[in-house]
Order: sequence, then structure tokens, then C-alpha cells
Amino acid sequence: MTARLLEGKVFATQIKADAKKKVEALQAEYKVTPGLAVVIVGENAASKVYVANKHKACAELGIYSEVIEMPNDTTKDMLLEKIDELNANNKIHGILVQLPLPAQIQVDEAEILNRIDPLKDVDGFHPVNAGKLATGQEQLVPCTPLGCIRMLELAGIDIEGKQAVIIGRSNIVGKPMFHLLLSRNATVTVCHSRTKDLAQITRQADILVAAIGKPAFVTADMVKPGAVIIDVGINRIAPKKLVGDVDFSAVAEVASAITPVPGGVGLLTIAMLMQNTVTAARLQLEK
Ligand code: NAD
Repeated sequence: MTARLLEGKVFATQIKADAKKKVEALQAEYKVTPGLAVVIVGENAASKVYVANKHKACAELGIYSEVIEMPNDTTKDMLLEKIDELNANNKIHGILVQLPLPAQIQVDEAEILNRIDPLKDVDGFHPVNAGKLATGQEQLVPCTPLGCIRMLELAGIDIEGKQAVIIGRSNIVGKPMFHLLLSRNATVTVCHSRTKDLAQITRQADILVAAIGKPAFVTADMVKPGAVIIDVGINRIAPKKLVGDVDFSAVAEVASAITPVPGGVGLLTIAMLMQNTVTAARLQLEK
């Protein structure tokens, strides 16, 4: 392997240490402890692991946290009522509804997420926060792309003037990543499932972000020598085996830097959630 390994834990440790200082500053200034509520509906094993990790990270940093478990047959109205309650709870500064939702309320996902007070929207999915990001007024930004940007900054990798290519256009990763890179003066191309000649576009990337959800999709011939590769994908290919969207061992011979999976972007996402909770608390206290 010739590429520099961008290990999530190195950057996550720095992001969390900074968040911890901000927690202490809020306590000193306002006598307030930031609080995060994570709502989990139903019995999704992977979601339960994510939620437990979020709860643990809060405890490490001195952030108050509540995990609200709701049954699998929860209706839209029950969930909206819970969100209203959390919006009004002044111990809670951040609200996160763990996705995916059970089938019967999946169609209502947008309505449910839009019910969260934009100042408590630590996932950054609310249209108010998405609109602010798109217009250069970053407020609460989705944790995964924000974590990727913070990692590039901490790693000393310049964004300005670079050709950046993102594969994937989801509201959670691809689109916010586009705005974050653009506002930091990269020239950004977003590719997706209908893109023609994908490899010809990805080969132009100085920074290549893969957020597709397909194991080993990005192969070495799709990568420009010396590119920085951010692999957002998480794909379970066996009960205990996770891989990203990038053919790691082959691409690591071509790239100048690469994030591993596991141990890469996933750790940054949780660290950024802690930062967003602190940011949300400050926004509410300074309102
Ligand atoms: P999504 O399914 O919403 O979007 C996938 C995107 O990939 C779509 O925009 C689609 O157009 C594109 N795509 C699919 N097939 C393609 C193809 N053949 N060529 C080009 N583009 C193609 O997924 P998402 O929510 O954005 O997540 C993407 C991946 O990132 C998943 O593996 C997910 O598990 C992972 N993820 C990781 C984290 C983390 O914390 N590390 C957070 C969110 C998502």
C-alpha cells in the first residue's frame, strides 16, 4: 500500500476532544449540559448498534443523552407526538430519528423529519438546514459529509481549486457533500446511477468521494494517480465483514490518501454528531 491511511479514529479523537471543550464552555457560561435524544422505532439490529455507539460517545463527552425506543407498530402520529414532546423539552438540544423507519411509516419519513425543530435538527436533514447549507449559511449540517470535510482539514489536505467528484446524490451524503466542497472552492461534479462514462469522470478527480452502497465499486482504473479517496460506503458482505464502496487494496496503490472501511468515515460521523449537539445547544441558548 502506497497511499496515506486516513484513519477515522485519529480525527474522531480530535473532533471529540474539541466537542468536550465546548461542552465545558457551555456549562461554565450557561450552566447547561447539552442533551441529545435518539429515537429508534422497531427492531433493526444495525440501528441498535449505531444508537448504542451514539449513547456511549455522549457519555464520554459529558453530553446528556436519552434513547427512546418505540415499538415496531408505531404510527406516524405517535412518532410526531414524541417529536413535539422533545421539541418542547429544554433538557434536549438535539433530536435524531434513527433511519430506516419501519415499512408502515417509511412513506412519511419527510413529514416526520420536518417536524423536528430546525435548531434541534442535529442530523441536518430539515429543509431549513438543507437550504441554509445550499445558500452558504451553514447551520446544522449532515454529520457524515461534515465529518469528511473536517477530516480533510485536519489532515492538511487542500480543497480549494481541486477537482472533486462525488458518486452518489442522496440527501444524506452526496448533496450536502456537494455544497460543502463547493463552498470551500472545489470544482465539484456529482455522479449517480444514470451517469454515462463514470470512470472517465472519476479519473479527473483530485478528491473522490464514494457514497453508493456497492462493495468494491470503485476500482483502481477509475482513480487518478495521487487522488484522495473518501469511502463513505458501508456494505455488510458477511455476518461479521464490512467493506466500503472502494476496492481498497488496489486503489490504495494508486491514491495518495484513502479512508479504510471499517475504521474510517463511520467514526467521524459519530464525532460530528457530538459537535452538532453542542452547536445546537449553543444556537438555542443564544437565540
Ligand atoms: P443511497 O442509496 O441513498 O444513495 C446511493 C447513491 O448511489 C444514489 O444517489 C445512486 O444514484 C448512486 N448509485 C447507485 N448505483 C450507482 C452506479 N451504478 N453508478 C453511480 N452511482 C450509483 O445511499 P446513501 O444513504 O447516500 O449511502 C451511501 C453509502 O454510504 C451506503 O453504503 C451507506 O451505508 C453509507 N453511509 C455511511 C455513513 C457513515 O457514517 N459512514 C453514513 C451514511 C451512509
